[in-house]
Amino acid sequence: MSDYSFFGAVEKSFDKAAQFTTWDPGILEQIKQCNAVYRMHFPVKIGDKIEVIKAYRVQHSHHKLPCKGGIRFALSVNLDEVMALAALMTYKCAIVNVPFAGAKGGITIDPKKYTPYELEKITRRYTSELIKKNFIGPGIDVPAPDYGTGEREMAWIVDTYASMRPGEIDALGCVTGKPVTQGGVRGRREATGLGVFYGLREVLSMKDVMDKLGLPVGVEGKRVVVQGLGNVGYHTAKFFQEHGAKVVGLSEYEGAIYNMDGLDIEKVVEHRKTKGSILNFPGSTNFAKNTDALEMECDILIPAALENVVNGQNAPNVKAKIIGEAANGPLTPEADEIFAKRGILVVPDMYLNAGGVTVSYFEWLKNLSHVRYGRMEKRFTENLNTHILGQIESLTGKKVNGKDKELILHGPEEVDLVRSGLEETMITATREIMDVWKKNPQIPDMRTAAYVVAINKVGTSYAELGIFP
Ligand code: GLU
Repeated sequence: MSDYSFFGAVEKSFDKAAQFTTWDPGILEQIKQCNAVYRMHFPVKIGDKIEVIKAYRVQHSHHKLPCKGGIRFALSVNLDEVMALAALMTYKCAIVNVPFAGAKGGITIDPKKYTPYELEKITRRYTSELIKKNFIGPGIDVPAPDYGTGEREMAWIVDTYASMRPGEIDALGCVTGKPVTQGGVRGRREATGLGVFYGLREVLSMKDVMDKLGLPVGVEGKRVVVQGLGNVGYHTAKFFQEHGAKVVGLSEYEGAIYNMDGLDIEKVVEHRKTKGSILNFPGSTNFAKNTDALEMECDILIPAALENVVNGQNAPNVKAKIIGEAANGPLTPEADEIFAKRGILVVPDMYLNAGGVTVSYFEWLKNLSHVRYGRMEKRFTENLNTHILGQIESLTGKKVNGKDKELILHGPEEVDLVRSGLEETMITATREIMDVWKKNPQIPDMRTAAYVVAINKVGTSYAELGIFP
């Protein structure tokens, strides 16, 4: 499928949804296009050679500022992909009411081929290119991790930015997904996976939706397959397992494994660490190809790696009744059509994996406010809280102990605040999309309903702002 255009697929989904809105065609066109595309080449010294690196940053929209979106390191990175991912960021942020416009960045490299020192040089040089062209800044454009990047790279970015913009008081807010010790927020690492879990849990709790699919309500006992065991896949699988689902299939680069009685996710990760592969995990059946996982017997399939993995060819073989898109763009428009016909529910990427950017928003707010969340300074609250505790104990006649006592005396932890904010966000977004879908039965699928919600929000912003000059 070399002629596949990811941006083309996003445009197609957009057009499918636009007909269910009443916006002026000019506004729709403005929403759809990528506003600014920065394609760059820069040299980096690797050993005694000069390597010319190809990279991108695309700002899809400017209806709000800053722009927001991750940076991907992969050999497959190209302009079409970065444009599509930037567009998805716009729609994603709109759906979960995070006040950012969409952007995305990428460097066309295989990060495994470089030493950490070389990767640091590439990351810092890329950051300096973004600074030179005003494509990064706490009020301009705020990158984050994506496929092939993580906290380490974000720390290099913030350090480069702060060095080149001395004295900028909000410099920490130039990037999110940083280590907690460098202005990151507790709960960001698992945020996307947890958001996927919260979103799907909400769908699974809807009786009418489950009845249509012929599945019992709830997470308990559901058979789940996760394709890709990176940060997103691992955490998604972990939360499903923790809440009583059976993770029956998993896959990574080297292949896939299946066990109808359930796989212990931590043990599989441990096995991969020691053996270098998930294959031959005790009690499971091996499959040669990573993509074999997509066709496994299960209730919920969660593609959590890259785009375009479920397409016209393999969609007819998918056995799941629900597909939760943890990755960005794992299904092609052809696959979408096949699933709509087969009555399979596709819970779309552009909101389901919004947990990452939602918690990025919390991190950015924390950086700009220069105050950490939760657990107030003891010296400010100790007397009052001790008094409240005493009042509760005398009113109820019972001693408060353990976690409750901690909570009253010291307030919630940052991670608890972040998680409850994320939970509320994902539940609200799920209900909003489902409501639009139910109220408009001509809308063919949940993705289209999600686009309608996004287009209406971005459209409102453009309409209110007016057209300059
Ligand atoms: N890369 C993540 C995404 O695709 C997170 C983006 C962010 O936190 O800005 O949603």
